[in-house]
Amino acid sequence: MLQTSLKIDVRKTPVSRISELDMKNLQFGKYFSDHMFVAEYADGQWSKAEILPYGKMEISPANSAFHYGQAIFEGMKAYRTEDGKINLFRPEANWRRLNISAERMAMPNVSEELFMEGLTQLVQMDSAWVPSEKGTSLYIRPFMISTDEYIGVKPADTYKFIIITSPVAAYYNAPVRVLVETNYIRAVEGGIGFVKAAGNYGRSLFPTRLAQQRGYQQIIWTDARNHRFLEESGTMNAMFMIDDILITPPLGDTILAGITRDSVLTLARDWGYRVQERKISIDEVLDAHKKKTLQEAFGTGTAATIAHISGIGFEGRDYELAPVEERIFSNRVAVELEGIRKGRIEDKHNWVYQIK
Ligand SMILES: *Cc1c(COP(=O)(O)O)cnc(C)c1O
Repeated sequence: MLQTSLKIDVRKTPVSRISELDMKNLQFGKYFSDHMFVAEYADGQWSKAEILPYGKMEISPANSAFHYGQAIFEGMKAYRTEDGKINLFRPEANWRRLNISAERMAMPNVSEELFMEGLTQLVQMDSAWVPSEKGTSLYIRPFMISTDEYIGVKPADTYKFIIITSPVAAYYNAPVRVLVETNYIRAVEGGIGFVKAAGNYGRSLFPTRLAQQRGYQQIIWTDARNHRFLEESGTMNAMFMIDDILITPPLGDTILAGITRDSVLTLARDWGYRVQERKISIDEVLDAHKKKTLQEAFGTGTAATIAHISGIGFEGRDYELAPVEERIFSNRVAVELEGIRKGRIEDKHNWVYQIK
């Protein structure tokens, strides 16, 4: 258990905005709960942790994060259980990953206590914002930015670690058509593909827009050297079920270590599937498609859990996959994860962290 010596100052909002919220018409990432958590880093340590009303912050135009991109984030969710409690899913994994990102971006570490106390106290305070309808949740966005008022290039001396939350509707898992991208790249060995950094998202928007103009929803990124090996599907980890073997690219510099990825692989192994974390080329996938052994292709991530891939575009041709209803594994794993998060299914791996 965590020591709760951390002092968080609390300034409550005089009037809650929750009555303005139409829980039936939530759009992802558009509405924010009443409060936010903010901690400041200066002189080599975190101090001044507070929960305060969600609102605009004053930032210098010379703020270094704007100019040089020391900006990292996490994405996680709080789920309402049937008996009204609130569950987080593997929050310590988000804390660990935030620090992996921080190290690569020359930013300071956040202690487990600061992360967990900030997170749990904020969610407790805004617990009314955790929706209860099927498939809904409170999306949580912890992030860290540099805050030096200085435009010389160097790691900043001051930072803010902030957590904001946003109620989200049930995610409609429309299957996506993906384009295998062989021109632009997301990540390269030695780069920051494994980091949840703002810059990784910024660089992906233009190629994704080009793919969308051609009728695809997402890109499947390929390796930077040969454009043969598949990497990630948009901002999700990519998985393929070929001949009853679950295959996903191995973790490394260019792959973000998704918590959903790890959870899906763990459940697959529990259920006796063969699981391979190895390089997988577009040639292998198309060959399996031809032999009719490509059973499933999907992305994994916190926002959607599973995003089925309905078709793959490559070198001017489109390859259609089996209807979503026939996809035994990915449908089963989506239901299982939802059940574990909502406390309906036994949590064998101790993934659920209940907020008291
Ligand atoms: C966040 C993210 C994922 C998914 O990670 P989860 O922990 O499963 O949400 C996958 N790929 C990229 C590039 C990401 O940024």
